[in-house]
Amino acid sequence: MPDTIRKIRKLLVANRGEIACRVMNTCAELGIKTVAVYSDADKNAMHVSQADEAVHVGPATASESYLNIDNIINAAKLTGADAIHPGYGFLSENPTFTERCAKEGIIFVGPSADAMNAMALKGAAKKLMTDAGVPVVPGYHGDDQSLETLAAEAKKIGFPVLIKAVAGGGGKGMRIVREGDNIKAAIDAARREGENSFSNGKLLIEKLIEKPRHIELQVFGDQFGHVVHLFERDCSLQRRHQKVVEEAPAPGMSTEMRRAMGEAAVRAAEAINYVGAGTVEFIVDVTNGIDDAPFYFMEMNTRLQVEHPITEAITGQDLVEWQIMVAEGQSLPLSQDEIDVMVDGHAIEVRLYAEDPFSGFLPATGDVRLFNPHGALPPGTRIDAGVRHGDAVSIHYDPMIGKLIAWGSDRDDALHALKRLLAETPVCGLVTNRDFLLRALSHPEFEAGDVHTGFIEAFSDTLLAPNVYEDRDYLLAAIALMAEVQAQASHGDTQDPWDARDAFRMNLPQSQRFALLSENAETGVMEPVTVSITINGTSMRAMLTGAEVTADIFVTDVHFDGLSLHFDEGGTRKSVFVDITPQSVTLIDEARTLTFDRFNPADAAAGEVDGPGTITAPMPGKILELLVEANATVNKGDPILVMEAMKMEQTITAPRDGMVAELPVKAGDQVADGTILAVITSPEDTE
Ligand code: ADP
Repeated sequence: MPDTIRKIRKLLVANRGEIACRVMNTCAELGIKTVAVYSDADKNAMHVSQADEAVHVGPATASESYLNIDNIINAAKLTGADAIHPGYGFLSENPTFTERCAKEGIIFVGPSADAMNAMALKGAAKKLMTDAGVPVVPGYHGDDQSLETLAAEAKKIGFPVLIKAVAGGGGKGMRIVREGDNIKAAIDAARREGENSFSNGKLLIEKLIEKPRHIELQVFGDQFGHVVHLFERDCSLQRRHQKVVEEAPAPGMSTEMRRAMGEAAVRAAEAINYVGAGTVEFIVDVTNGIDDAPFYFMEMNTRLQVEHPITEAITGQDLVEWQIMVAEGQSLPLSQDEIDVMVDGHAIEVRLYAEDPFSGFLPATGDVRLFNPHGALPPGTRIDAGVRHGDAVSIHYDPMIGKLIAWGSDRDDALHALKRLLAETPVCGLVTNRDFLLRALSHPEFEAGDVHTGFIEAFSDTLLAPNVYEDRDYLLAAIALMAEVQAQASHGDTQDPWDARDAFRMNLPQSQRFALLSENAETGVMEPVTVSITINGTSMRAMLTGAEVTADIFVTDVHFDGLSLHFDEGGTRKSVFVDITPQSVTLIDEARTLTFDRFNPADAAAGEVDGPGTITAPMPGKILELLVEANATVNKGDPILVMEAMKMEQTITAPRDGMVAELPVKAGDQVADGTILAVITSPEDTE
């Protein structure tokens, strides 16, 4: 029990991006001064501008900056910060850092090193939970790691089973084994991954739950031994075992089940004398529906979670404020009885990532444009972002752009509000998962609340199919280009920072042609398509022209305001977000983000455009393995090589049928963004 309350006056946030900004928002409300730390890559980042003071802590590589304990502690001493908030990730679950803060007399806003240690390894945590009477997935968590014992235990549990590295995280070191599978190979693979990624090859085995839901409980403890829970979050929509959509409360969960899970979560936290914000994760077996479904402890995260805003939305509480109060030695502001009656409505969060769901969720980089252009948000919605228009998403850190959160009086209202928020939050300049998120939220099974961790895979046909570009889309893209030329001609050069270009004409022709590149569905080759536009006042007719006109549209009252194209078509007023660069034009409507490359015949003639079979590195990375040899014959989609970028393995595939004419890289090479990895030639090239 603390003797006195120690008020925090200045807090250093040992993190970056959205969570650093989120913590600083609460500090601003509480009158606490803030200190940001930043790496070389983050000099101009949002969290640095938001803080009262900022200290440089090292190079872009996280291990030398955001994970550099000495530098972070020195930054706190230099600025006189009396507390450190670790956010999530980085040093948030590092007991050495927690102990160091204590030694230096700095308040660590988080649990004790002992609590972190107790939950660090999955096997030990499960044993502790079993002893505390919290249900765990039936399985083997023993020390005997011989192949015979592990195989015998797997058989005893009954197939299918899941083998997990005890030190695993982020979905690594897990292998499913079904009846008849080679269990030795699976054990070897899981052990290797555990050793390589976590320096710990110890394994546990548990029953595989075929149709699980991931439901977690937000818990909070104070220094007086009180522990409460703030309801659950359903985080079942996952890709690669990582969350993309979260909601609270869990759809369809009964009051009795909520009470039972809440009590189990509180017991788990009490068992380790937990202080601060924590999350107890359960896996729920919904094979026979959610009613009376068995639930099992999976792990406890000893920090604030990414998805905490949905809990804030349904409880009206500020969890960072709670964290600060508890760290200061104050007691929890509410009792369990008080919390139990305050849950109101429903909240859903999506994680907006710079990644391409339509090619294996490959992380992307680039400069963000247009994000949250209006600034104002519809009622009941919230955006927690760590980047602004013009900021970069780099290879160095997590590619999350931000979190979009919506609250509604019920699930339907929340869902409706979130879809509107997503539709009105255009992001350009880099590939994002926005269209995928909209599809997931609009899927009938999701709308019905029938979520489970296999959801995305089960509906990959509709969720992960690339956008289809219709003739009408090309016509609209050309209209946008025409409208932009007109707007510039009438306004003079634009002052708009995201729209600075020089060429504009005062004497507009009455008709103009625009050439855009379109992928030939059969060959994968990019081919120019031409759109002719004729103008009469503010009306435009656009025609897709080849040998003859194959499609056309007529729009009136066309107006381009630099952000959106507005027009009348068939008696209704419509609008679409537009982003134009010298190389491309992007249209964003309520469902799709479509980017059209502009065709410049001069570039093509000068050979500046990569040939259709040229594969370049999508981002800097390391070549892990070549899967073909030079001169091999390949078909479109065949794997060519594996590269590692942003800590993820990515298989690069052939963009077309042909022969591997050039393969200038080898395993182990570090490659820069845009490096040519392979060239696939086709007999058509010389025709
Ligand atoms: P990590 O620490 O790598 O994130 P977890 O143990 O938290 O691993 O599990 C991550 C995800 O894997 C869960 O959210 C769930 O989707 C799935 N999972 C874990 N255990 C099981 C199980 N026994 N049966 C089925 N799926 C599981």
